[in-house]
Amino acid sequence: MKRVAVLGCGGFIGSHLVEAFLSRTQMEVLGWDADSRRIDHWLDHPRFSFFSGDLYRDPKLEEKLAGCDAVISLAAICWPSRYAGEGIAVIESNFLQPARLVEMIARHRLWLIHFSTSEVYGKTLASQLGPEAESRLDLNLLREDESPLLLGPVQRARWSYACAKQLLERWIFAYHRERGLKFTMVRPFNFIGPRMDFLPGVEDGEGTPRVLACFLSALLRGEPLPLVDGGQARRTFMHIDDAVNALLNILERPEAAQGRIFNLGHPGNEATIRELARLMREAFAGATEQRSYLDHPEANISAEEFYGEGYDDSDRRLPDIRKARELLNWEPKIALEEALRRIVVEALARHATEV
Ligand code: UDP
Repeated sequence: MKRVAVLGCGGFIGSHLVEAFLSRTQMEVLGWDADSRRIDHWLDHPRFSFFSGDLYRDPKLEEKLAGCDAVISLAAICWPSRYAGEGIAVIESNFLQPARLVEMIARHRLWLIHFSTSEVYGKTLASQLGPEAESRLDLNLLREDESPLLLGPVQRARWSYACAKQLLERWIFAYHRERGLKFTMVRPFNFIGPRMDFLPGVEDGEGTPRVLACFLSALLRGEPLPLVDGGQARRTFMHIDDAVNALLNILERPEAAQGRIFNLGHPGNEATIRELARLMREAFAGATEQRSYLDHPEANISAEEFYGEGYDDSDRRLPDIRKARELLNWEPKIALEEALRRIVVEALARHATEV
């Protein structure tokens, strides 16, 4: 690969990809984003061209993309706190806008590497079948080409995001079948790392970010850790460095990666949200050498109170990653405790003056 485009290069994942592409490969990188704060120190790099603003309003977008070998699409609204209340913008940014882009990419015979989401799986089969199904791995493990995609009713507007993402996956697949589009789709399972989201009350940004940033912010501000509905939901968390390695392997192996969907996650890093809260307290206590963090309070809060009407939740997200292991020669390596340690150390260093 000589030249790659990153749509949404200023976000959490995009900024890490830009950094890796510029520092670890010889590729030329074209990037679009409305926000450049996470990538400011790369803007002058000779192999980086940054286009500021709304990518869909760039009149030369098509011309610029036509010269690329691969287009990585990341630009979208992806915060659960916004799914229910901003359904129009969520569906627009996750389906309507990228759908037209897919058509353009197919026409130019480019390779689309699309970031979908683990949320397309919705709820597990086990969650529908009662407590005895909980321990059955076959009803819990999420497989790219076999698992059903189980979303809740329309009034549970949280699923507008998953539904838009799912429809885009089907759109991309149809373009592949009918118009020969070269694609790879990845389904990220709760990537975590530095520069994730924003820290309300600590850094710029309004609203409610994802759970890791909520917990970081609460610990930095000395506020209780909010456990939505008791923090019973389970997630597998993966450090962004493992994710970046997967993307580098995808770019190196077009024959293995094209025409396929990959789960990218770390099945060994599963925790309930309540367990995550404990691990975060331990990470803070370790990094600051202040044992008092171990007793940092938590607060149970109902989903309705925390997110407003229309919220619903995925009960569990446990990925089967055999495809990525075998075809991409990739293995996630960073254990959850180590991932959290790195993130907390970085956040404390960045916000040392405020705590
Ligand atoms: N959550 C929580 N406290 C928070 C933020 C989120 O308990 O401060 C829960 C949320 O209800 C969900 C899980 O943490 O069960 C993960 O939420 P996140 O926003 O990170 O994204 P998701 O994995 O649902 O896409």
